[in-house]
Amino acid sequence: MPLLIRNGRLITATDDYLADIFCAGETITRIEPAIDPKTLPAGTEVIDATGKYVFPGFIDPHVHIYLPFMGTLAADDYASASRAALAGGTTTLIEMICPGPTDAPWEAFELWRAKAKDLAAVDYTFHMSVVRFEDHVRDQFRKIVGAGVASFKVFLAYKGALNLSDEHLFAAMKLARELGVIVTAHCENADAIDALQKSSLAAGHTGPEWHGPSRPPVVEADGVHHLCAFAELLGTHVYTVHTSCDAAVRAGLAARYRGVNVWIESVIPHFVLDESYAARPDFEGAKYVMSPPLRHTANQEVLWNGVKSRAISTVATDHAPFRFREQKEMGRTAFTLIPNGIPSVQERVDLMHTYGVCAERLDLHALVDACSTQAARLFGLYPRKGAIRIGSDADLVVYDPAFRGTFSKAESHSNVDYNAYEGWQRIGRASVVTVRGAVQARDGKFVGTIGRGQFLAREPTH
Ligand SMILES: [Zn+2]
Repeated sequence: MPLLIRNGRLITATDDYLADIFCAGETITRIEPAIDPKTLPAGTEVIDATGKYVFPGFIDPHVHIYLPFMGTLAADDYASASRAALAGGTTTLIEMICPGPTDAPWEAFELWRAKAKDLAAVDYTFHMSVVRFEDHVRDQFRKIVGAGVASFKVFLAYKGALNLSDEHLFAAMKLARELGVIVTAHCENADAIDALQKSSLAAGHTGPEWHGPSRPPVVEADGVHHLCAFAELLGTHVYTVHTSCDAAVRAGLAARYRGVNVWIESVIPHFVLDESYAARPDFEGAKYVMSPPLRHTANQEVLWNGVKSRAISTVATDHAPFRFREQKEMGRTAFTLIPNGIPSVQERVDLMHTYGVCAERLDLHALVDACSTQAARLFGLYPRKGAIRIGSDADLVVYDPAFRGTFSKAESHSNVDYNAYEGWQRIGRASVVTVRGAVQARDGKFVGTIGRGQFLAREPTH
């Protein structure tokens, strides 16, 4: 159905102006100061955005939905993750394909794509994890890039499970350079963490509050430096995921200063939660275990300022939902067995608005840039996504900045039994969310069509 959004204040990464937007089909076809409804086809759906912002649909470039990890499976599927994303204004997800070390990469790609196909209500694409890189799998990665997945993911962390040897890391980054794909990386030194975890457990330090001390900032900064050293040798473009602390951001910026093509992602939990949450009594801290861990509060200003100054390119979530009761419980006797993750795909944009924009830490353009436009540019989706332009997909968020409420489990669409931000003040809400011209969410409720989401094939751009 044709769609008219009237009287909105359009806010992009660079612009702020009043205009009407008309979408004849799945793309934006007109943007004008005042579109006369009489010029529009019969049956046009009209949305009044008076007093509201209109943002380009938000992109979360780092989520996990289908995820076999630490002996269990993440709690969402594409239906629940789509509902959560859309309720929070996110219209495109980039999911990590995370196969085990013995799985064939091409089969993993097909499996992950099949999990999304009939259940996604958002548009989606993937980063392909490289968890091993012997000669005989090399052609499969070429084939996966050819099928439209123009980014890799590597883990320097998770010794014995996902981490790549330096030999494989070097070879994978060399292929990425050759193909022009960017390498996203979890940067923490796996061997240092392994040793620190073992000594912590041996000393009887088994609770979730010991997760953070087993992976201190220097371990992450070392990982960033290591990745950037290889990028410097090879010319590969790299992207550090969930960069959590001052030391790691500095390592990335130091490399950029030397000319390394490195971009920095941070994730919303690190902006608003600190290490004290993981130390909450009665195993509550397990809800707040993720890697890299929550940090000292001093790091939060570094992250906010990094977004404001564009030193940090993107704010993602690392959404990895595990239920407190059955799943986080698996680590009751040892923090090393707590499935990692703080589900946030629904809350990200509202947290950025409430604790970033309304707290005057950054402006609306920085929010749009970090939560939408930069991800589109870096991962080959721009200007189809991440922009309000004629010809762009009509992924639009009519956002009500006057809304007041709280974050709560009761309003969450993710299949988890807790909300990490329970009871927190919330300013702003996505009133209407469209994906390719069709309304998919209103006022936090899903009103769309499961299965309507499309796979976004991407060309190498680096
Ligand atoms: Zn992740």
